[in-house]
Amino acid sequence: MTNKHFCQGPECHTYPTSDRFLKSKGIIRGRYAYAEIATSNNEDKRWHRYDYRSDTYFCSQTCKLQWLNENMQNIERGIPIPFITHRRISEGYQKVTETYDGWNGGTYKSNSIQKIGVDTV
Ligand SMILES: [Zn+2]
Repeated sequence: MTNKHFCQGPECHTYPTSDRFLKSKGIIRGRYAYAEIATSNNEDKRWHRYDYRSDTYFCSQTCKLQWLNENMQNIERGIPIPFITHRRISEGYQKVTETYDGWNGGTYKSNSIQKIGVDTV
């Protein structure tokens, strides 16, 4: 049982970063939020005394700002915003290793996670 919420960022599960990538299934998964859910037990132990409470809902400032951009109109209109309680995924990703020739005759490898079937330029 985890002590963190899933990140509420609307696009969190679509960013192809290595920490979100699950190679065996070829999927990108949304992150957990940055900070632990506050309880009476861990309030003192949390590593940053002045943690923002919002960090228990988002993995990053980017996700936090995207959530605000997407949802403030709904808040203004009194429309409830669904709370994300399951780990969202995006399917169809693969790890791609590209090899480059260096200026000194050596070769370099670069890994990236890319959507399958999408040509990269
Ligand atoms: Zn996020």
